[in-house]
Amino acid sequence: MVQKNLTFIKILPLVILLSVLSNSQKVFAQQTKKKATHSKTTTKRITRRKTVAKKPSAPVFRFRTVIIDAGHGGKDPGAHGRYSKEKNVTLAIAKKLRTAITEQIPALNVVMTRTTDNFVELHRRDDIASENKGNLFISIHCNSNPEKATAENGVVLLVYGYHRKGEQMEAIRENASVFLEKDYQKKYKGYGPNSAVNAILLSAYQQKFRKQCIRFADLVNHEFKSVDGRHSHGVKEQGVLVLQQSAMPAVLVETGFINNSKDEAYLNSSEGQAEIVQSIIRAIKKYKKDIEQQKN
Ligand SMILES: [Zn+2]
Repeated sequence: MVQKNLTFIKILPLVILLSVLSNSQKVFAQQTKKKATHSKTTTKRITRRKTVAKKPSAPVFRFRTVIIDAGHGGKDPGAHGRYSKEKNVTLAIAKKLRTAITEQIPALNVVMTRTTDNFVELHRRDDIASENKGNLFISIHCNSNPEKATAENGVVLLVYGYHRKGEQMEAIRENASVFLEKDYQKKYKGYGPNSAVNAILLSAYQQKFRKQCIRFADLVNHEFKSVDGRHSHGVKEQGVLVLQQSAMPAVLVETGFINNSKDEAYLNSSEGQAEIVQSIIRAIKKYKKDIEQQKN
């Protein structure tokens, strides 16, 4: 009996230890289970929250308004050809473009910066674009060079940007109309005949539209080249004032050299104008599709 009791006393700590161990295992198992359940609930909650966040609260983006800017006008004739003036060619093309958009892309609103032969200051053109909440600004122009008659021909697409000196030919010519405006130095932050390009290069342009400007310019350029067979000088980045202040992607289309006899005839013909308009229309359709897919 004494012997039995002694053995019991000897093994008692072992029994206690085993019992404690077994209990702690149970507790650990319960805790792990709890943790697992908790983490499941958290995952569920997060998933639910994600589902809620995915519901579109922002309105769907729609490309709604295109601004068409007929270059020059009134006391600013722009470049001269042998018999025609840039301001008349740009207005004729711009009006045809408006009609074509209304007929072929009825979902788009068209706003013109001028519809008659009047002088509209460059900054006012940008104001019209912003006031009407444009999604794209298309400025129509004709190119020319200092020669009286040139062999140079074809299209150039300009987007606003920084570029090396000497490659600003189009920008300098297209910006020249500011000298016909009162207080142009105030309005265009120090822009003047001597500070010319530097002032524009230093000004802060919102680079956020750069990619979209280049995309649209590339599309128009592609249509001119591949469909109409026009010669192209490509897409250039230059300090063009009318593109600088836009609150939207903006592209200037140099539709041809008005002081090249063949280009001048093409620019003044109804066939030539219709071709230019249709190329821009195809580019707008592709751009609209692209941008709406990207943003939604
Ligand atoms: Zn021009």
